[in-house]
Amino acid sequence: MEILSAKKILAANDKLARDNRRRLDEQRVFMVNLIGSPGAGKTTLLERLLPEMGCAGSLRVVQGDMATREDADRIEAVGVKALQINTENGCHLAAHMLPPAFEMLDLPGADFLFVENVGNLICPAEFHLGEHLRAIVLSVPEGDDKVRKYPPTFATADALVVTKTDLAASNDFDFERVASDLKRLSPRAKVFKVCAKRGEGIRELAEWLKERRESAFA
Ligand code: MG
Ligand code: ZN
Repeated sequence: MEILSAKKILAANDKLARDNRRRLDEQRVFMVNLIGSPGAGKTTLLERLLPEMGCAGSLRVVQGDMATREDADRIEAVGVKALQINTENGCHLAAHMLPPAFEMLDLPGADFLFVENVGNLICPAEFHLGEHLRAIVLSVPEGDDKVRKYPPTFATADALVVTKTDLAASNDFDFERVASDLKRLSPRAKVFKVCAKRGEGIRELAEWLKERRESAFA
């Protein structure tokens, strides 16, 4: 019996991720991989972030979910072109799922492609998509222990976006603890505190993403 090892699957995924990245670089589309648990507030963050990013016509979103197209509908409601990928029983997106989405989203006209990566803090760590930047979304109610409990994912973070900050006091959420755990795992990662409901922290994140795109394609 032949066994296809996880290592081989990941190596094949890495190759496809590099192909995706080459294509994105050619078209100067900056791809952001948004990773976080179900309910972390990834879609709500996008609903508030996209209008801050500038021209809606230059933005694209891929929504990965097991079922429904509810999240893509929410993104289209703010005027941004979105495509839903239903993974059915899959708990993460993989690099091979992106090229068909690139075709359907008219990529050459875009500056940014945001990918909402299902809802999972475990396997998206290993499945690179070819993204330029990884933002891990952690909501306050999930608890301030999550960074150290899911080290492989947080070690790949370029940014940590802490959401639902209005609930910090009632959850005894220790921002300093989170920041120090993250510093150990990913010293480069920048931390943003966001309350989408109140619109706090959104502009700072948008400005930083635009700077990151400029320096990537300079
Ligand atoms: Mg969502
Ligand atoms: Zn998975």
